[in-house]
Amino acid sequence: ITVAAVRENAPNERRVALTPEITKKLKGLGAELLVEQGIGARAHIHDEAYQAAGAAVAEHADQVMIKADVLLKVQPPTLDQIKELREGSVIIGYLAPHTDDERIKALRDRKISAFSMELLPRTTRAQAMDVLSSQAGMAGYKAVLIGAQVSGKFFPMLTTAAGTIRPSKVLVVGAGVAGLQAIATARRLGAQVEGFDVRPEVKEQIESLGAKFLDLGVSAAGTGGYARELTQEERAEQQRRLGEHLKNIDVIVTTAAVPGRAAPKIITASMVEGMKAGSVIVDLAAETGGNCELTKPGETVESHGVTIVGPLNLPSMGAIHASDMYAKNLFNFLSLMLIEGELKLDFEDDLIAGSCLTHGGEIKHAATKNRVE
Ligand code: NAD
Repeated sequence: ITVAAVRENAPNERRVALTPEITKKLKGLGAELLVEQGIGARAHIHDEAYQAAGAAVAEHADQVMIKADVLLKVQPPTLDQIKELREGSVIIGYLAPHTDDERIKALRDRKISAFSMELLPRTTRAQAMDVLSSQAGMAGYKAVLIGAQVSGKFFPMLTTAAGTIRPSKVLVVGAGVAGLQAIATARRLGAQVEGFDVRPEVKEQIESLGAKFLDLGVSAAGTGGYARELTQEERAEQQRRLGEHLKNIDVIVTTAAVPGRAAPKIITASMVEGMKAGSVIVDLAAETGGNCELTKPGETVESHGVTIVGPLNLPSMGAIHASDMYAKNLFNFLSLMLIEGELKLDFEDDLIAGSCLTHGGEIKHAATKNRVE
């Protein structure tokens, strides 16, 4: 079978779904590899590296698409790309199952076996395939670096001939995968760090990173390791206490999300107004609307002297390592269905069944099917 990948044409996307290292590994599993010329250019990987690893390089994307039994992607395919895919072929990547119904219908109608990495069950066995986790790690890391960059303060405490500098106070809101990496990164830079989450079980994880758990007296543990939505009263109380606390913070990194929904608005305009001038908010949830009311996705704005950064696609900023991890995740997933050089889709496997968006002309994911059809 032929496993293929093409250039990611979305603006602001530097990552690739297939690296030379994974090319070699897939060859080892008996696959043929085919990539579009220049595929890794934006992650600084040359065509020669793919060739040396055993891939064929085609000049144009359509030459790749037509031969692909399995297409590996980072960004969801465009409608034109779906038309170019062979009927019955497999696609694996981010497929944005919660939005963009037209794409999902197109995948269904073309009888593509589409596996959406956003839908992968987050079980222990799936950890090595979990792109949400691997990419969130890069996002959390970069978010803190942006905060440090924009802030007019040092993160660490310094004792110098020009006086003593107090460490910056950093608050990370949402202590999932991105948030925990943000906390770890801010700690390494020497800041005084606090983490906050509605899931109380993360307290221990935050503390193990040398940070403090900010207790606002509200718990929202949901099912499957995710947060549930808070009630109105719970939210009001959380917000009142948070607003008070923010008056003392230098840099806030927000990462709070509820899967498949717009990001919860946690930091209101009036909270921002109460903050010290010169403070910084980096809103990692900008992609899904933002955790701060004043966030403008893709922009940096200032309000009452507070800088609010709404970065999009942070993992792409660390395209080299993010691609390494992403490609490794996809390889581990593909290994479930690539058996002795043959493609075998075993729908008894919970990871294959759980992440399948469309197959054989049907939408397989129940919630998506209900919405789209
Ligand atoms: P996510 O990106 O969906 O959310 C980020 C964080 O925001 C979560 O910790 C969530 O609790 C928090 N949050 C939501 N609403 C909030 C609010 N109003 N205020 C404050 N915080 C809020 O989550 P994620 O990082 O993708 O993963 C969530 C959790 O799932 C992980 O922390 C982990 O425990 C679990 N997980 C398990 C596996 C596995 O076992 N394979 C893999 C990845 C994640």
